[in-house]
Amino acid sequence: MKYIGVDLGGTNIVVGVTDREGNVLKTYTRPTIATRKTEEIFDDIIDMCKTLIEEYNLDASSLKGIGMGIPGEVDSKKGVINYSNNIPMKDFNVLAYMQRLCKEVNFDIEFYFANDADCAALGELVAGAGKGCSNLVILTLGTGVGGGIIIDNKIYSGFYAGGAELGHQTVVHNGEPCTCGNKGCLEAYASATALIRDAKRAASQNPSSLLNTLTENNLDNMTAKVVFDAKDQNDSVAIKLVDDYIEYLAVGVANLINIFKPEVLLLSGGISLQGEKLTKPLEEKVITKVFGNKLLTKIDIATLGNDAGLIGAAMLSR
Ligand SMILES: [Zn+2]
Repeated sequence: MKYIGVDLGGTNIVVGVTDREGNVLKTYTRPTIATRKTEEIFDDIIDMCKTLIEEYNLDASSLKGIGMGIPGEVDSKKGVINYSNNIPMKDFNVLAYMQRLCKEVNFDIEFYFANDADCAALGELVAGAGKGCSNLVILTLGTGVGGGIIIDNKIYSGFYAGGAELGHQTVVHNGEPCTCGNKGCLEAYASATALIRDAKRAASQNPSSLLNTLTENNLDNMTAKVVFDAKDQNDSVAIKLVDDYIEYLAVGVANLINIFKPEVLLLSGGISLQGEKLTKPLEEKVITKVFGNKLLTKIDIATLGNDAGLIGAAMLSR
């Protein structure tokens, strides 16, 4: 049995075929060109799916289904994209549109839809750092903070469309402003953007900090990696920044563990590349915050990187 996954991103469309274990056998990539008509984007997707179906000689007996990861609010049951922000789409009936593919290949196909972050969570569960687990929470630490929740091997998406907004839990009442309009969200403290904001403030207040040297005295060069690098070189300002960063992250992680008690909580995104330099101190802080001060959840780094979304999308039909 084969599985086709579609990872629709703001920059690229990736369509791939996997086996039952989520191993990627082949992918095709085309630029999304998000400004064009939604129909044109899905014409490309239909075309790419058709190519894979022909290449692997797939038919109703050998293709389990096609799963799609959509950035934004998708009604999985109706197959309707309610709204997407970084690819302008609104009230688009993707299930109806994809039926054209069935006509072109001459067999019926089951289609599945989910939010892209939820797909990444499912991908890690089936083929990544969550393999063998049934309950998983993933937090993506990038420009923003995203996430996904898997309960008993299934994506948990609540009663209305959209992904799990784990980054928009409040960790500081009336805290830093967040992109969502609220104040004090986890995203406003644990995203790379937040760390860079704090590092710029700290660097300008502490001219002798390595943060200034490493950015060649141009704070526009500040990155999350610079902060961690300066910490590794024992810069006291960077040590404090990283410690504060992990403290806020620990508040968010402890909340998620108290609520969901997952077997594994994974971190992905740019900042997760710090590996154990992030997870070890995070664990120590989380233990002091979780109920009963007992940490049974494993805190680990996601392993699939950019493939997680595609694999998870393919596995929607498993
Ligand atoms: Zn927010």
